[in-house]
Amino acid sequence: MNYRFLADRTLGKLAKWLRILGFDTIFEPDVRPKSDLNRLLQERVLLTRIVKNAGRSDVKRVVFIDVNDVYGQLQQVVDELAITRQDIRIFSICTTCNSALYEIDKQSLFGLVPDYIWETHHQFHRCRQCERIYWAGSHAERCKKIIEQLFDESK
Ligand SMILES: [Zn+2]
Repeated sequence: MNYRFLADRTLGKLAKWLRILGFDTIFEPDVRPKSDLNRLLQERVLLTRIVKNAGRSDVKRVVFIDVNDVYGQLQQVVDELAITRQDIRIFSICTTCNSALYEIDKQSLFGLVPDYIWETHHQFHRCRQCERIYWAGSHAERCKKIIEQLFDESK
């Protein structure tokens, strides 16, 4: 299932995590005119902590988030929408600006990433929009552990 999300203003961290998992997620403070927001809600799942938004019937779908911890919030989204491991595409979306990442040839990045990173890594991605460069480092390992827990059915 390919969900797209709109996270309201208190859920910035959750938005970032959903992007890590590869879900197109707009964070509400980035949306300016009100009409744009209404249009986006016709095609995206609204993630909210605001009780009065939970009952909205004029939006595609709402997930009301009732825990504080970001990993608990992520678990809530995964469980409620029955998202599976097959639905996620790690490192396909920029965590900063929500644009698509593309794989970029290492040779073209010489001098653009720290030397030790360039020497020890072989796979790089870059954002089409903000041009941020990504590589699988220790951060990726931590992310993988969290994803393991998220989809661990024995817990
Ligand atoms: Zn970006």
